Amino acid sequence: MARQKTPVCKLCRREGVKLFLKGERCFTPKCAVDPNRKPYPPGGSRLGRRRRPSDYAVQLRGKQKVKRMYGLLERQFRRHFREASRRPGATGENLLRILEMRLDNAVYRLGFAESRAQARQLVQHGHFDVDDRKTDIPSFGCEVGNAISVRSRSRQLDYFKQMAEDLDSRELTGWLSRDVSTLSGRIVSMPLRSDIDPTLEEQLIVEFYSR
Ligand code: SF4
Repeated sequence: MARQKTPVCKLCRREGVKLFLKGERCFTPKCAVDPNRKPYPPGGSRLGRRRRPSDYAVQLRGKQKVKRMYGLLERQFRRHFREASRRPGATGENLLRILEMRLDNAVYRLGFAESRAQARQLVQHGHFDVDDRKTDIPSFGCEVGNAISVRSRSRQLDYFKQMAEDLDSRELTGWLSRDVSTLSGRIVSMPLRSDIDPTLEEQLIVEFYSR
C-alpha cells in the first residue's frame, strides 16, 4: 500500500502551519513550526522568494494542507472529493464532513490516539469495533449513531491502559460522546463546520479540482 514517506514535520514547514501530525511533540518547543527554529519552507533559502503566489499556487497549498492534515494521498483524497461533489449541498463542506467521519479520524477525535497516523495504525491492527463488529479499515465512513469501542482483548494492552488514565484530560468535539470506563464512544451528530478547523479553506480545494 502506498504511503506518505516525507518526514511529517517537513510537511508542516511546507504549509507554514502546525498540522499536528506527531501527537504530544506538536505541543512542545521541539515543534519544527516555531518561528525561532526554521521560519522558512524546506529546501528554500532563508530569505525566501517574495513573489506574489499565483492563484494556482494558493489553491494547491489549500488542497495540500487539508490532504496532509488528514494523512491522505492524492488518489484517496480525490475519491473523497468525488463523493462530496455527488452529495447535495456545498461540496467543500461535504468533503470536510466525509474526512471527519472516517473511522481513523473519529478514533483520533475520541482521544484514543495522539495523532491521525497513530489512529490509522491502531485501526489497521484491529483494535476497534464499530457497532460490535471488528472494523480495521481506516477509511470506513462512520454514520450518526455508530458506537466505536476498543475491543475487549485490546483493553488489556499497556497502551490502552495508559490511555484510559489520560483520556479525561483529552478534549472532545461536540459531535461525539465518550464513555471512559468502557473505552467507547458514539457519533451523536454530523460534524458542523464550526466543529472543524476554521483555518481550512475548503473553497480552494473546490477551485483546484474545478480548473
Ligand atoms: Fe508539525 Fe507536529 Fe512536527 Fe510541529 S511537531 S512540525 S506540528 S508534526
